[in-house]
Amino acid sequence: MGKVIAIANQKGGVGKTTTAINLAASLAHLGYQTLVIDADPQANSTSGLGLNPREVENSIYECMVDGVDIQGAIMPSQVPNLYIVPSHIDLVGAEVEMINLAEREVKMRQAIEPIRNSYDFILIDCSPSLGLITVNALTAADSVVVPVQCEYFALEGLGKLLNTIKIIQARLNTALQIEGILLTMHDLRVRLSNQVIEDVKQHFKEMVFDTVIPRNVRLSESPSFGLPVIMYDPASKGAESYLALAKEILEKNQLPLKAKSPKAQK
Ligand code: ADP
Ligand code: MG
Repeated sequence: MGKVIAIANQKGGVGKTTTAINLAASLAHLGYQTLVIDADPQANSTSGLGLNPREVENSIYECMVDGVDIQGAIMPSQVPNLYIVPSHIDLVGAEVEMINLAEREVKMRQAIEPIRNSYDFILIDCSPSLGLITVNALTAADSVVVPVQCEYFALEGLGKLLNTIKIIQARLNTALQIEGILLTMHDLRVRLSNQVIEDVKQHFKEMVFDTVIPRNVRLSESPSFGLPVIMYDPASKGAESYLALAKEILEKNQLPLKAKSPKAQK
């Protein structure tokens, strides 16, 4: 069974896209067939994986709004085992266009359904909002990863997100779980950064991943080359940390650290 994980936090700049790209690339590197769905009109994971959003023919938008078969939107990336359903700026309009549709919260779930078991992992990179597209992502997902930046206002807004997750669990997706809270952009030299880790761990306990993502310049450089960090600089701290996160998630889901037999290429 494939697992669908939404990467969500309505705060911008907390590391959602960086996590979607690099966690996905790490899972793919470990032999797991992985798909990234870019559900942000800013299309950062699309360009970060080397595609030009302006040249995208079918995005998640067409799959949700026009009923285009998602198979026709899947593009390969430069990483073996890693694929992407891109986004483009039209997704901004999707919220408005979908408002009058019946079952508007389940459009993404319906779009993903035919390919759900063709992949081991499907990661959805959400936009910085709790609007209809993000509600769709949370309704389609089995679990959520919540990236939290190690900074002063780290916990601000987290209550609202957890509340939204509760509402989705009650009304739309009873099976939705929290995969974990991921601390990102940690700077060892900054006392405040260390303090945030302590606070978040004390407050959310085992919900917090053991893996903490350090601030690493390689992670911020790699998208401009259209590559995940594991290909751009595999020896970097950034690459190491996202590989550790992938392994932590595999262990948590009782999956082997290397996929046994790769599934057939799609
Ligand atoms: P979001 O998708 O939540 O808006 P991004 O993943 O795009 O956040 O990250 C915001 C910015 O911070 C980007 O420029 C990204 O390259 C940078 N960034 C994210 N994580 C790290 C990190 N661990 N170290 C250094 N820069 C990072
Ligand atoms: Mg983003």
